[in-house]
Amino acid sequence: MKLTQVFQSGKLSLSFEVFPPKTGSSFETVRTATEEIARLRPSFMSVTYGAGGGTSRYTLDIARKIKHEYGVPTLAHLTCVSSTRETVRQRIADMEAAGIENVMALRGDLPPEMADQDRSAWHYRYAVDLIRELRESGADFCIGGACYPEIHPESASQKEDIRYLKEKVDAGCSFLTTQMFFDNHLLYNFLYKIREAGITVPVIPGVMPITNANQVERAMRLSGSFMPQRFKSLVDRFGSSPAAMKQAGIAYATDQIIDLFANGITNVHVYSMNKPDVAQKIQANLSDLLGMNA
Ligand code: FAD
Repeated sequence: MKLTQVFQSGKLSLSFEVFPPKTGSSFETVRTATEEIARLRPSFMSVTYGAGGGTSRYTLDIARKIKHEYGVPTLAHLTCVSSTRETVRQRIADMEAAGIENVMALRGDLPPEMADQDRSAWHYRYAVDLIRELRESGADFCIGGACYPEIHPESASQKEDIRYLKEKVDAGCSFLTTQMFFDNHLLYNFLYKIREAGITVPVIPGVMPITNANQVERAMRLSGSFMPQRFKSLVDRFGSSPAAMKQAGIAYATDQIIDLFANGITNVHVYSMNKPDVAQKIQANLSDLLGMNA
């Protein structure tokens, strides 16, 4: 099912993200976690893609299972930075042959060892180049793109970031998923600005439950997200107790999602990081809300 149809239902819903294994030996662990999350019947599940190529071959394997074996709408990620046109076209053909209907088109980040590469000969410099390639392939994909309520770390300003975001939507993005954020006001402010800029496609907020203190530093480094004092206090107070931190992190994410639903958002994407117990607890906390009409 195309995600644009999913978003039209108007029901409050959750979707979850999984990431593919780094090696074949951990494939079974990821598969089991994916199956358990799929049993929650989320509105869709996304599968990330390793920009450096390391885990990329497993993205399609996992996405195919989610769709065909577990019967959950699937969003397969694809990155383009530093990839040849031949590789990208092959991945697109493979996705089409596997019956994948939804693709998240991303630029990706270069692995540090490739940072000094000469970029002038690259086929794809930005996600918009991949969106155009997907459209030109003739395959009937529903295409999503990434967006950044707190601006992309490489952007000079939010105005510039939103201008390029509009370019992605105009090139054929039917929906956008946000980077994680920990203060909902940042999202509401961002939504106001992009609507003003003429971006009208559905925006799916991404919420990451922080369930251990070590995750905090990494999450902040990767996303550049602002950490509200309320969240900092929680990590300071409970970070040294794994069980307490997990409970508090799930409660914080639950609270964020309730506020998003209360303010008109219908689907929230949860970055539950291959942890079925985290996905289950969040879903259980929201059991009476999920399925309600917006
Ligand atoms: P772009 O949209 O290309 O933007 C990157 C930067 O370039 C921005 O600063 C933008 O303003 C600027 N820009 C865009 N177009 C132009 C232009 N035409 N001219 C000049 N500047 C321009 N990474 C992975 O490796 N695998 C994943 O599966 C993955 N999934 C993600 C899912 C989500 C929801 C998000 C938010 C991020 C994900 N990422 C993933 C990380 C993502 O690849 C990085 O954030 C990357 O740095 C930017 O990707 P993008 O698609 O947003 O890039």
